[in-house]
Amino acid sequence: MELPEVTFVDDFYFWFNTETKKEYYATPLYFYKASFDLDYDNKLREVYYKESELTDSGLKHPASLYFPFHEKFGLLLLRFLNADLSNYEIANKTFFYAYGFEILRDLDKKYKFELKQNYGSNEEYLKATTKIFEDLQENLIDLQQELIKGVTYIYNLDNNTALDKYTYSERFAVYLIKRLGKLYSYYKNDFIMRDSYSRKYQDFDNDSEYELLETLQSKKQVLSMSDTHKSNDLSSICYAILEELSKTPNYPIKKCQNCGMYFIPKAKTDEIYCEYPKENSKPCRDLGAFQSYTERLKNNKAMGEYRRTYQQKFMQVRKDKTNTKLAKDFETWKKKAKEKINDMKKGKLTENEVYKWLIHSK
Ligand SMILES: [Zn+2]
Repeated sequence: MELPEVTFVDDFYFWFNTETKKEYYATPLYFYKASFDLDYDNKLREVYYKESELTDSGLKHPASLYFPFHEKFGLLLLRFLNADLSNYEIANKTFFYAYGFEILRDLDKKYKFELKQNYGSNEEYLKATTKIFEDLQENLIDLQQELIKGVTYIYNLDNNTALDKYTYSERFAVYLIKRLGKLYSYYKNDFIMRDSYSRKYQDFDNDSEYELLETLQSKKQVLSMSDTHKSNDLSSICYAILEELSKTPNYPIKKCQNCGMYFIPKAKTDEIYCEYPKENSKPCRDLGAFQSYTERLKNNKAMGEYRRTYQQKFMQVRKDKTNTKLAKDFETWKKKAKEKINDMKKGKLTENEVYKWLIHSK
């Protein structure tokens, strides 16, 4: 298959640079969007919903394969794992706005749709893409669950000690061979175009023969090759990314211990909190110290007993609605229990003391 030299209209292309940890993609999103503004000065692209996105290190024009979008290696997969698929609006906001809807064209053999190059208005675009999303919503949720299952195994996110000593790529291989989930079936709709020196002509246009020889000798990365994938099937795209990620050592997918989002740590591979920007609070990493304190409270024996007792008493009151004494006793108990717990948080009472009080208060 030939790689289009300048423009592309219909398909989604992607490739990687695992040394610089970059992921490149070219999407025809540009062509069928009713409104799509590129702000070159601020390196922003403004897409539908007026959501702005800062690309990793600059804006590239999407209409040419030589100038694709690029972002952190693995980000498409992470975004999909974290996407909220409960309705079109939020799914678009958390995922599709960046990649377009071509990537769903081959997701389900039974469901075929065409995308126009121009919808004329935001309303028309919204109507058409909402239908696509809603028709495929179940498939998408299923795909997300399957990918989460695979990622959990490959990156041992459940901290299974028996899996601990194996590498990501070893676990990836076994997960597929043993067909532990549906991931093994997701490789089919991916057309891979092999990279070769024959295609590097344009990259070294300005270098003379000997300059180029010198460059090759001094800088090994010039030799790096990257196959280009063409795919309109989100499952195959995620598969290819996951396969490439699993071959990359010290570059793990983690699950944030605060918000539960999937992320790849910037520096330390044992980082447990994500750095995603949050609307109404600081990123989880900045909340780390505070969070581990509330985390500790969650595992606190007295807190567990408090929650259990509270629920029991609550149910008793609900079942026996005419019993006003029971309701009053419950209110009194609630007040006292809260005082005890506050004292524990302040360090005035120990966990054990509060636990004992709760047992006797039943
Ligand atoms: Zn987080």
